Amino acid sequence: MSQHQDLIDRDRKVTFHASTHLRDFAHGDAPGRVISGGQGINIVDKDGREFIDGFAGLYCVNIGYGRKEIAEAIYNQAMEISYYHTYVGHSNEPQIALSERILKIAGMGMSKVYYGMSGSDANETQLKIVRYYNNVLGRPQKKKVISRMRGYHGSGIASGSLTGLKAFHDHFDLPIETIRHTEAPHYYLRAAEQHDMTEREFSAFCAQKLEAMILEEGPDTVAAFIGEPVLGTGGIVPPPEGYWEQIQAVLNKYDVLLIADEVVCGFGRTGADFGSHFYGIKPDLITIAKGLTSAYQPLSGVIVGDKVWSVLEQGTGEYGPIGHGWTYSGHALGCAAAIANLDIIEREGLVANAAETGAYFQQQLKATFGDHPLLGDVRGVGLMAALEFSPDAVGRAHFDPALKVGPRVAAAALEENLIARAMPQGDILGFAPPLTINRSEVDEMLGRAKRAVDKVTDELV
Ligand code: PLP
Repeated sequence: MSQHQDLIDRDRKVTFHASTHLRDFAHGDAPGRVISGGQGINIVDKDGREFIDGFAGLYCVNIGYGRKEIAEAIYNQAMEISYYHTYVGHSNEPQIALSERILKIAGMGMSKVYYGMSGSDANETQLKIVRYYNNVLGRPQKKKVISRMRGYHGSGIASGSLTGLKAFHDHFDLPIETIRHTEAPHYYLRAAEQHDMTEREFSAFCAQKLEAMILEEGPDTVAAFIGEPVLGTGGIVPPPEGYWEQIQAVLNKYDVLLIADEVVCGFGRTGADFGSHFYGIKPDLITIAKGLTSAYQPLSGVIVGDKVWSVLEQGTGEYGPIGHGWTYSGHALGCAAAIANLDIIEREGLVANAAETGAYFQQQLKATFGDHPLLGDVRGVGLMAALEFSPDAVGRAHFDPALKVGPRVAAAALEENLIARAMPQGDILGFAPPLTINRSEVDEMLGRAKRAVDKVTDELV
């Protein structure tokens, strides 16, 4: 038996895997794979088989694999001190330098950074901040948070409630009581009665739906709205034209805080530092993770804007130290990795590459798949994109879910040694390669994707 097979067999006996068919995996009916190396946009499994990672892990390895510089930064910090808590004013040098750096990149009136370990826990922090904020302001009833259908904000009890995808709610008794979900800004999937709307009209429609929800719930009960600048796990959907402008007008009208979840978009993915910069979003609070360290260490953050920060200060003036903290907040190794990661992003101009190579990628994607018979929609921005499959693009019909078209194309891509992600809701194949990708790598990636889509097309027609 190969060493790889032996590892997989041992894994089946002992590991509870994320987002996995637990029974099939444990009993050997679903595939396993042990990843043992990576360089640039490629990863290698224990058998030495190499794949293009067209999804940068889970759209997080922005600087690509195999960066010894990050390993060295982590090592050097560990040789000094790996950890001391950051409660009651304790700090470490990388945390201080990283916060300064993040605030400089973000701009937009941001004031302070609080650290966590994952996007999910950062969004838990966001919800606590929003509650605290309104309690300090004497508005204890203003607590509901509106998210969007198809939004993804994590998989905890509260962050999973913010997520607007069925698989993350069903059988977990979610969402919790104070969370609501409004219209997804998914122009292609708009309902039949919206078929004739332009993108701008559809954005106005989404804003009207949001306003109607706020009015129905009562504006004095709605505390915040959370959204990803570009819907990510819900299908990689750039917003329709004018969307954020119109949504923000509604939020301002009813004094509703805006949380921009930049976990995917942050640190370059759209071709701007933040998706908020790209779309002219003016958030009160920002969630970051993934690209902050390019996943070389687990680290997330909540960036708090001036308006909220001043109320948090007022609150601790009244109630004493804030009752919120994680053991690993501001972990020195995570912060050291993040600084080295941001150095690479800056030195190699990866945000500009996401814009330039991203534009080439979007253009080639459309050229390759725009008229393909299996495709309903080809969309994206910067270095994130999706193919949405449909038997009838004009009518935006869906395939029978039993055909599992999305997962089949992802499986066919894997046979071509390409990782592209079958997104969880609908027949959608997602791409989000490392921001280091160049044009010839884009060509290679799309060549493999084309062969995979053609293979499934031949099976279906
Ligand atoms: N927010 C967004 C936009 C995400 O895409 C994700 C994860 O994919 C999260 C939050 C949750 O992050 P994590 O998986 O690190 O908890």
